[in-house]
Amino acid sequence: MHPQRWLPDVTGPPRRLVEALRLAGPSTRAQLVERTGLSRATVSGHVAELADRGLVGPAGPAGQLPTGGRPAHLVALTRRAGLVVGIDLGRTHVRVAVADLSHQVLGEHVAALDVADLGAARVLDTVAGQVRAELARAGAGLEDVVGTVLGVPTPVLGGAATAQGTVAQSNILPTWSGSTPALELRDRLGVPVVVDNDANLGALAEVRWGAGAGSRATIYLKMATGVGGAVVLDGSLLRGTSGTAGEIGHVSLDPSGDVCRCGNRGCLELIAGGTALLQSIRSAAPHYGDLRALVAGAVDGDQVCRRLIADAGTNVGIVLGGLVNTLNPDRIVLGGELGGAGDLLVEPLRQGLARAAIPAATEHLTVVPGQLGAHAEVLGALAVAFMEAQRLTG
Ligand SMILES: [Zn+2]
Repeated sequence: MHPQRWLPDVTGPPRRLVEALRLAGPSTRAQLVERTGLSRATVSGHVAELADRGLVGPAGPAGQLPTGGRPAHLVALTRRAGLVVGIDLGRTHVRVAVADLSHQVLGEHVAALDVADLGAARVLDTVAGQVRAELARAGAGLEDVVGTVLGVPTPVLGGAATAQGTVAQSNILPTWSGSTPALELRDRLGVPVVVDNDANLGALAEVRWGAGAGSRATIYLKMATGVGGAVVLDGSLLRGTSGTAGEIGHVSLDPSGDVCRCGNRGCLELIAGGTALLQSIRSAAPHYGDLRALVAGAVDGDQVCRRLIADAGTNVGIVLGGLVNTLNPDRIVLGGELGGAGDLLVEPLRQGLARAAIPAATEHLTVVPGQLGAHAEVLGALAVAFMEAQRLTG
């Protein structure tokens, strides 16, 4: 473990500058004046000083994070200021990304992994190996890492992204129930780690860099193997007291339906989740082996794929209606593989919403597919790492 705080020898006004740059990414001097409350002369002087130490430099060419154009007068933290690692665990994959503190992604890889069946210990062994490999590809090592954030596809107890976060006792990811994956990964890597729910991370990324930008109240749905959800109000996640806020996948649509892995009957996930859709298509069109193929089939005009996605959209819309009446959001962002179906999913979902929500609640509501695709969750992990680097090493 690194015992020291991030950049311990940077104090006073220069500290305010590096923290502003870490949070916001590449910035103009005028933006730094606004964010730190320092005078323009002070900002310019300290930027020059930090540049002499190699910690700050001109922002490089536009990175993979959609931060918009980067004119030459932007400054950013350099690699010498540290790197962050984002990890997205899905039920069947692990994705690892490394970024520097100029918010540029240096590398990202995804691998298939049976996260749900293998259990925490074996999965985290694999994750640790992938983190080391991704850092090596970036020409770096664990000693450069100032923050690591791990997303898991299940509710996490413990409030805001936390090192002590415990996977909720439930059947959603039973082999992980009660585990503390951030502490376990920290023990394997020797760097600070915090954990959060994957849909929470995807929601933060879409609000910061994607389809939720500019929204004040966003509901984010991760429509993949399961149906995860998160709510972002004024830029902050609504978590609830035990981390399940926004988890609409286990709202019951049919009280006499099949029993779900959560213990209830007729959950939305059993009707509109990716696993259910693939089960349905197995008899009609078995060559659609995974969700990406099913979405591609729908886009290409396959009527079976279109029917399944449309019905999923309608059912999700009906369940969302209750949440829309209650929260009155201005945006719903549809992420996960099924979000890639675009209007084929969005239109039926709007119709389901229209049946279930009161008109006043949807008057200023837009429903849009996510813009970050399969990268949303890992980018959200990086976003939290940029925010938390100081606390992680403090
Ligand atoms: Zn359920």
